[in-house]
Amino acid sequence: MSATAEERRQCLVELFKEVKDCTKCPLHETRTKAVFGAGNADADLMFVGEAPGAEEDRQGLPFVGRAGQLLNQMLEEIGLVRDDVFIANVLKSRPPGNRDPQPDEIAACEPYLFEQVRLIEPRVVCTLGNFATKLLSGSPTGITKVRGTPQVHELGGRTVFLLPLFHPAAALRTPAVKETLRGDFATIPDLLRRPLPEPVPSAEEIAAAEDPGPGEEPPPPADQLGFFG
Ligand code: URA
Repeated sequence: MSATAEERRQCLVELFKEVKDCTKCPLHETRTKAVFGAGNADADLMFVGEAPGAEEDRQGLPFVGRAGQLLNQMLEEIGLVRDDVFIANVLKSRPPGNRDPQPDEIAACEPYLFEQVRLIEPRVVCTLGNFATKLLSGSPTGITKVRGTPQVHELGGRTVFLLPLFHPAAALRTPAVKETLRGDFATIPDLLRRPLPEPVPSAEEIAAAEDPGPGEEPPPPADQLGFFG
């Protein structure tokens, strides 16, 4: 039987305690507070940003600076508030001076993000910017090429829609990016209503399904299929 929402929430609290004291990468030496993520532990919609900035590091909460205000505004425009969604980041600790996340930092931190997705069970995961998009899509293709088109992925053991979006910080810098982000946000309610596709079977599952196993009849050749209506 699958875990109840309350059981998953309890597991998320345990994961929060782990992240709060995490020392897996050197960023723990310079951070003020780890930023686990915040919101509805049973959300259908999850956002994943890059890493905490200065204000997030001070408060221990994600997207509380200017980029966060824009995220709030875009959510409101589609009839949602922050408590409806869960917001997390690729890195849980602030890189000094807001520099880019480094590969070793992402490798140390990514199990926390995948576990968050597994426990929250979202239907739609919006990746904000290049780092989250490349990590969760498993592809090196940059955000400008892939933004706005939903993808289907297995994340945290479940099938989800992944919707790559421009990062709100980029939208604050460039009005055209802001308008593109607004347009992409407008597609989210429809995506939330779409039925999730069946999980894509692995190569092993396809091979097992095609092997009739000992003692079983092999399927009839294609030219006989008409006789077995
Ligand atoms: N930018 C991010 O990517 N994450 C935050 O939490 C804040 C700003």
